[in-house]
Amino acid sequence: MSIYEYFEKLDFNAAKRYKNKLAILGINQCPYKFPADAWKDDPTEWPSVQYHDVYHYLIKSPKIFSPEAIDNYKALDAYKYFVSGWVQEVLHMILSSGFVIFKAEVKPSYRTNDPTHTPWIAVNNKESIILSHCNCMAGLGETCSHVAAVLYKLEAAVRLGLTSKSCTDVPCKWNQNFTKDVNPALISEIIFYSADAKQKIRSNISTTSLTVRLNEEH
Ligand SMILES: [Zn+2]
Repeated sequence: MSIYEYFEKLDFNAAKRYKNKLAILGINQCPYKFPADAWKDDPTEWPSVQYHDVYHYLIKSPKIFSPEAIDNYKALDAYKYFVSGWVQEVLHMILSSGFVIFKAEVKPSYRTNDPTHTPWIAVNNKESIILSHCNCMAGLGETCSHVAAVLYKLEAAVRLGLTSKSCTDVPCKWNQNFTKDVNPALISEIIFYSADAKQKIRSNISTTSLTVRLNEEH
């Protein structure tokens, strides 16, 4: 099934819930129908989604993301998807209302023949995560591991300074090339440190080292 026809394939109740989500964003078209050229790959335009934004959004889905589960984040599928580089390039679109919609494909595993899932996430101009959706079964309701994996990637980009306006081509390269080969250990070591520790680590990570690493791959 093409994802373009996602909305048409929903049953009555699911379609109704989906329409309600779109109404909150003030749009009447499914984001899966937005044309390819409406989406941008430019992390410097991303809102500053912080860890506490992600945390508070995820615990609203207590079945998957209880506070205890999030504290034990390394066991979460979502975290594994993120550090393994299964979250592909994150694209975004800024609506006239100020909402930013993100979407990315998330591979299910290294078994590349399995279908990918494509979550989308809406963030308002105060960096609050408003709602999300995914074309997997769990994502039909609201949050799933694919949504959470994309949120972890957004948070990491903000924390590493890649959404800063002063960055040039580094953010796009990071977005496109974040695979298991692009230093996942670095991310996994620092992801949930305290603010002070994060700041200390951040000052030790220069975007230069990321540039060198990425250039070595090309
Ligand atoms: Zn999903």
